[in-house]
Amino acid sequence: MAKYELLIVGGGPAGLTAGLYASRSGLKSLLVERGLFGGQMVNATLVENYPGFPEGISGFDLGSFMHQQALRQGLEIAAAEVTQLLPGQPHRVLTSEDSFEAEAIIIATGSEYRKLGVPGEEKLLGKGVSYCATCDGPLFRDQEVAVIGGGDTAITDALELAQHCRKVHLIHRRDELRAGEVLQRRASAQPKLEFVWNTVVDEILGEDKVKGLRLRNVKTNQPSSLMVNGVFVAVGLKPNSQLLANLMELSETGHVITDALMATSTNGIFAAGDVRQNSPRQIATAVGDGATAAMSAFRYLRG
Ligand code: NAP
Repeated sequence: MAKYELLIVGGGPAGLTAGLYASRSGLKSLLVERGLFGGQMVNATLVENYPGFPEGISGFDLGSFMHQQALRQGLEIAAAEVTQLLPGQPHRVLTSEDSFEAEAIIIATGSEYRKLGVPGEEKLLGKGVSYCATCDGPLFRDQEVAVIGGGDTAITDALELAQHCRKVHLIHRRDELRAGEVLQRRASAQPKLEFVWNTVVDEILGEDKVKGLRLRNVKTNQPSSLMVNGVFVAVGLKPNSQLLANLMELSETGHVITDALMATSTNGIFAAGDVRQNSPRQIATAVGDGATAAMSAFRYLRG
């Protein structure tokens, strides 16, 4: 079984930054990632709030640069899915490919799209239901679509879809957006965007492709329907912490509880980025978490 001083789970901005710092400090480190490097940000067409790129940068490019930089500093990478963590001295990490031993672990598994949980959502996934406007928006050129949610993602998605689509209905369960001021202003100025307030989706309609939505006004209980060809669900994220149940302290929402130095309640295991409780869920903050976690792991390992 291959042995490392530090094993990092997850190759988003938190994990890659942790890997960069750990490798530069001389720790024998391995990062295990099951998919693309960059995590959620690979879906962002343009990242405008990560410092150092005055014109913005595509999330895919930013992820790829972070990956290359960590590799150059000596980080080892394994493409595999972690299937089990066994805390101990050393910790053992089982993956879809190999098993590893590590003196310390950094959990940087991020989060994944939250589902609406309504009839039709699962059945019509990829047949008009999507969680990624950047990936699937161009498929709906000149068509009518709906975006569900009122946060930064919903507004960013709606603005992006307005570039391709005839009309975008933004369906939000309240009468006030959660999204930041700048995005709200851009949304109000977009004539193709129509807000449907105080409304939830009860069903996504269609047999082999999306035909529309069955809606309900939460104030009046009045049902209605809306004919659309595409539905973009943007109702937030849930932490990828299934592996960690019973291994460390988690919040009610399943986020890992850490101290300010990213230590979890389990000795020698640290957490960084979106998976952590109270993470502001920004690329810039994930990067900061990753650097802090690597420095804490170094202190833990080398004193
Ligand atoms: P979010 O901020 O958690 O917003 C989720 C939205 O979905 C909220 O408006 C929420 O309504 C709504 N919602 C949740 N569950 C729902 C349900 N079951 N049915 C209907 N609506 C539901 O998530 P997010 O927009 O994905 O953003 C995640 C993080 O990424 C945030 O920290 C955000 O700032 C960041 N982000 C930043 C940018 C940027 O450009 N800076 C872009 C994208 C994301 P309520 O408002 O009523 O709770």
